Amino acid sequence: MKQIYLDYNATSPVRPEVLEVMLPFYKEQFGNPSSVHWAGRAVSGALEKAREQVAALINASPAEIVFLSCGSEGDNMAIKGTLGALKDKGNHIITTAVEHPAVLETCEALEKEGYDVTFLPVDKNGTLDLADLEKAITDKTVLISVMWANNETGNIYPIEEIGKIARKYKIRFHTDAVQSVGKVPVDVQKANVDLLVISGHKIGAPKGVGAIYIRRGTRMTTFMHGGHQERNRRAGTQNVAGIVGLGKACEMAAAELDDYYKRVRALRDRLEDGVLSQVPDIKLNGTPDREQRLPNTLNVSFAYIEGESLLLNLDMFGIAASSGSACTSGSLEPSHVMGAMCVEVTLAHSSTRFSLGPESTAEEVDKVLEVLPATVQRLREMSPLYNCGKTAEDCETCETVRRI
Ligand SMILES: *Cc1c(COP(=O)(O)O)cnc(C)c1O
Repeated sequence: MKQIYLDYNATSPVRPEVLEVMLPFYKEQFGNPSSVHWAGRAVSGALEKAREQVAALINASPAEIVFLSCGSEGDNMAIKGTLGALKDKGNHIITTAVEHPAVLETCEALEKEGYDVTFLPVDKNGTLDLADLEKAITDKTVLISVMWANNETGNIYPIEEIGKIARKYKIRFHTDAVQSVGKVPVDVQKANVDLLVISGHKIGAPKGVGAIYIRRGTRMTTFMHGGHQERNRRAGTQNVAGIVGLGKACEMAAAELDDYYKRVRALRDRLEDGVLSQVPDIKLNGTPDREQRLPNTLNVSFAYIEGESLLLNLDMFGIAASSGSACTSGSLEPSHVMGAMCVEVTLAHSSTRFSLGPESTAEEVDKVLEVLPATVQRLREMSPLYNCGKTAEDCETCETVRRI
């Protein structure tokens, strides 16, 4: 059976061109980039080339790029490194209720340590009201942290506008751009961000490598003490092969961005149109304005059924999708993103994410459209919630479904 991978927001396959450039660094190019001899010099050159490739994708200077172990490390570093450096200025962070756990849980942990955190609410489509942001700013605010795009819904946030607000109030601005780079244009100058995080494995590079953009002159404390790698920003011998792979993936993403957007967007729209027209009683999660969503992401709730059982049934046809985010599946709690959007709890449990990538094809989308409506119908017929005989007036689920 042909396998169909529609979970690119969880991770992506390493692209063949990326693997190709990485391999020598597991073989003859084994040197430590900090060594002064021939073995080190050959490798340090490769690191600097990768730094240029990453910088070019987001319109930064190579000296502003620091390599890390993953996106989560970058988010932790941005937030904790800012609070440490700006201790004397204040202790208040503004973020949103829909961040990735790498930001959300970092902020929750800091709150327990005594920091003051504002989690901005979103509306039922998952969009932010920037008036709430301005209202939340105090003279103790040292950081605004808002993701460029959401991993579950694909919603793109108004980063340029937030950047203007941050500049107006002279507050540092961090954005988690893990889901955005390579999918939509990301420009750190235009958006006026000070800190921006990316991760290799979401864009065709391997797992275990990421990078943070730190605007020149931005003071940060480090939580990783040790050697003087990465201009003293991040101790530890670099993951050279991974970094070389990340550089190549960024170079490819920059060259392919327009084509990626058009092609993947067309496939996602084909899937979205098909699902919305062929499956009754469903709810789109995220903004209905497709321009304001990542081109590759579709998140829908199928009333009366569990997302997990739908996933397992799709898996039997070789189709890989996701319910909630990869990190939270396995827990019975509905996703915090659906919660923040006030999605009714049974609908939150049935939320299913399809995320496409550069390797996705029209045949794959058509196969999903062939399998999905009948699978949903079959699961509904087994569901005690479906055709339960009650009227909408005395059944909360029916009432909810009637409203979607
Ligand atoms: C995947 C993801 C992360 C975490 O990146 P890792 O490299 O897996 O640690 C952070 N933020 C967002 C939005 C993500 O999708």
